[in-house]
Amino acid sequence: MKTHHRLLLSLLFGICTGLALHPYAQLQWLQNLNHYLLEPIGQLFLRLIFMVVVPMVMSGLILGVFQLSNHQGLAKVSRRTLFFTILASSASVIIGVSLVNLAQPGVGLEITQISSDSNSIAKIQTNAAQAKPIVQSLLEIIPKNPFTAASQALDGEMLALMFFSLAFGAALANRQANQTSRWVELLEECYAACLLIVDAAMKIAPAAVFTLVFQSTFKFGYQILFSLGFYVLIVVLGLLLQQTLVYSLLLKIFTRIKPLTFFRQCRDIYLYAFATASSNATLPRSLELAEQQLNIRPEIARFVLTIGSTANQNGTALFEGITVLFLAQVYGVDLSLGQQIQIVMMSILAGIGTAGVPGGSLPLIMILTQQVGIPAEGMGLILGVDRFLDMCRTTLNVSGDLVIAALVNAQDRDN
Ligand code: ASP
Repeated sequence: MKTHHRLLLSLLFGICTGLALHPYAQLQWLQNLNHYLLEPIGQLFLRLIFMVVVPMVMSGLILGVFQLSNHQGLAKVSRRTLFFTILASSASVIIGVSLVNLAQPGVGLEITQISSDSNSIAKIQTNAAQAKPIVQSLLEIIPKNPFTAASQALDGEMLALMFFSLAFGAALANRQANQTSRWVELLEECYAACLLIVDAAMKIAPAAVFTLVFQSTFKFGYQILFSLGFYVLIVVLGLLLQQTLVYSLLLKIFTRIKPLTFFRQCRDIYLYAFATASSNATLPRSLELAEQQLNIRPEIARFVLTIGSTANQNGTALFEGITVLFLAQVYGVDLSLGQQIQIVMMSILAGIGTAGVPGGSLPLIMILTQQVGIPAEGMGLILGVDRFLDMCRTTLNVSGDLVIAALVNAQDRDN
């Protein structure tokens, strides 16, 4: 059986089993089974993948920048990556904001029907309160200590780690060729060894995918999707429009690739991003796919995909735009045109600053809602459905990275 068939089966099996067992979720033996056996399998897999993310980001990005600089391509590739990232993110937020304004899913919703989880809200509130002023945040992209940035990369310091890798790669490229060859060999070896670890971890991927999706449906069932059904539907519709219309159009206009063929080649990665809800955890697999099957030049794939896994999150940007406006509708907060434009801009920026881990965008949503005067409890409304939406938006985040890598690669080939 092919990998994507196996992953798809595990995914469907996980969803159905979780739904079937949800009514018995209070039974102690079932909870124990989940807690001591199923949860650890998913965690084992995620930890194995997360383990290689930092060395892969560093070696991949340094090599990508080094090779691009040596071929005088770095400036061009950076410019094009930035251009396509802004284009795709803007399109996604505009789709989201238009849909939520047209459909008004939050108007008339009974807040009391939906339970709110005060512990989780408090946690997100604390994270949001730690947010720094914009100048400070920009300055902190330059790490004082790259080792600290590396050790906290998965807890919000990824951009700082990337900055160091970019600077290091560019500096290496300015050294004489004979002085750098050992570095390059070492980094190539490091990158290849990480890929081998990913391949080994993939052996348990079907079991892990089953347990990861099982968690969501087992804990929440499907009733929660009904209570917020319209909102969930609007988010999913927005994500689908971005994937089928915007990405297809971009591929058609800027490359000679057939969108459907491209999407079909990427389906493993979609399933995998959906199950893990993490762009960072999907990165090693995307890199492998881009280089080996999509025929994207390795230095372009390493540069665009690595940066994109944190800095290009179209699904997250779309989700944030919709969610803030939805909560404003629920709480009857009237937003002026200026405030709506502010939300659009902030959502685009949030797509750049969000950590590529499950729930990475929640603190940013909290900041946005507070800015426009929506009560903090609003977060409680969406927490129950967030895991499902996280899985969906992460799939688009990862898909967007692959599309942009293909666009940049095609432009490079044509010139
Ligand atoms: N889970 C998302 C990702 O990894 C980030 C988010 O929107 O929460 O891409």
